[in-house]
Amino acid sequence: MTKPPMLTAQQALDHLLSHAKPVSETETLPMQAALGRVLAESVNSLVDVPPLDNTSMDGYAVRTADTQNSGSTLKIAQRIPAGSMGTQLEPGTAARIFTGAPVPPGADAVVMQEDCAISEGLADQVQVNIAPTSGQWIRRRGEDLTAGKLALAAGTFLRPQELGVAASAGLTHLTVKRKLRVAAFFTGDELSLPGEPLKPGGIYNSNRDTLLACIKSLGCDATDFGIVPDSLEATKETLRNASKDHDLIITSGGVSVGEEDHIKPAVTAEGRLDLWQIAIKPGKPLAFGAVRKSDHPNGNLAQTETWFIGLPGNPVSSFVTFLLFVRPFILKLQGREAGAPQSYPMRADFDWLKGDRRNEFLRVKINAQGGLDLFPNQSSGVLTSASWGDGLVDCPPGQAFKAGDMVKYIPFSALLP
Ligand code: AMP
Ligand code: MG
Repeated sequence: MTKPPMLTAQQALDHLLSHAKPVSETETLPMQAALGRVLAESVNSLVDVPPLDNTSMDGYAVRTADTQNSGSTLKIAQRIPAGSMGTQLEPGTAARIFTGAPVPPGADAVVMQEDCAISEGLADQVQVNIAPTSGQWIRRRGEDLTAGKLALAAGTFLRPQELGVAASAGLTHLTVKRKLRVAAFFTGDELSLPGEPLKPGGIYNSNRDTLLACIKSLGCDATDFGIVPDSLEATKETLRNASKDHDLIITSGGVSVGEEDHIKPAVTAEGRLDLWQIAIKPGKPLAFGAVRKSDHPNGNLAQTETWFIGLPGNPVSSFVTFLLFVRPFILKLQGREAGAPQSYPMRADFDWLKGDRRNEFLRVKINAQGGLDLFPNQSSGVLTSASWGDGLVDCPPGQAFKAGDMVKYIPFSALLP
């Protein structure tokens, strides 16, 4: 048997992303329902924000021509709370004004009330103690958004602050990409669901909860096709079922080329598959391909196939390979940026003297001294390493380092919301 090719993580990722095309279907949702979705169409503001020049302080609107000297006294000729309009500010007068209220015509500065004094018995006069500069404490009309101009660009991932921007632009609904539908199943005769008795030599299916939660965290609908026994027929049948109505199928386990590994022959029979050895640790085997949709035998290519990514079975391996490969693939299908996750140079507070031939992803945690601690057991079966840790050190092949050296740290928060 020929050995599958060994790829670097970057080569594998480039290959995956070269195939992923954003979904084209969209839906229009009320603002709150659009949280976590991807904007499909750019939107322009319906209004200027703010709608008029207004004050950012409680105080007095004045003409700087009247207040060149500190201690100038002005007649309080009008009062402008937020939500009301003032009138022309006549020379020698001031307007009592409150945060958010429009600056009256004729005024060119606001003096905050702390810089003013009202004399006993002279309630209709204000003494300006610090001469203002023109434009002081005035928020300009349209400085945030301009009517008719771009408020949010297509492709924007909608966080709470983007919903707020859209609302300030006067919008009620947003047109977003449809949700992705991702199917998952978990191969292994040794697996039981928590709540069921363990088989002799068995273990609980932890990948189900890790991977379904990863899929949902990225804003996709997840369908669980359960535990699938290590048999070619069962694997093929589950692939056929999962291909219907889904954009992507994710599996764990069975991607090696042993006698009990049925992913490769099953996907090959139901579609097409590349099996890769990726020079990473944890991880290594990863399968990428597509399954013919059994519900669309004759459509165009986009509809005739469901993408397939087979992850290794070891719990840390499947988690890390999901983050490194499945996540960017999903982001691209969703129409989002799929660039490298945010990483930071950080100080390692541990020695790593046995640089591996493969690109290693070490489970680490930031300590109180601002350095990184290493989880002592880096086995790909020890999932508590990922739960203890708050991120990964991306350690290039063959690289050893000593405590005090700088390393590349990727927080889990940069990978999953
Ligand atoms: P495999 O990739 O199928 O050779 O599995 C590699 C290792 O991961 C074996 O020790 C499996 O028992 C374990 N494993 C596979 N699937 C799961 C799962 N869903 N949950 C927990 N461990 C698993
Ligand atoms: Mg297995």
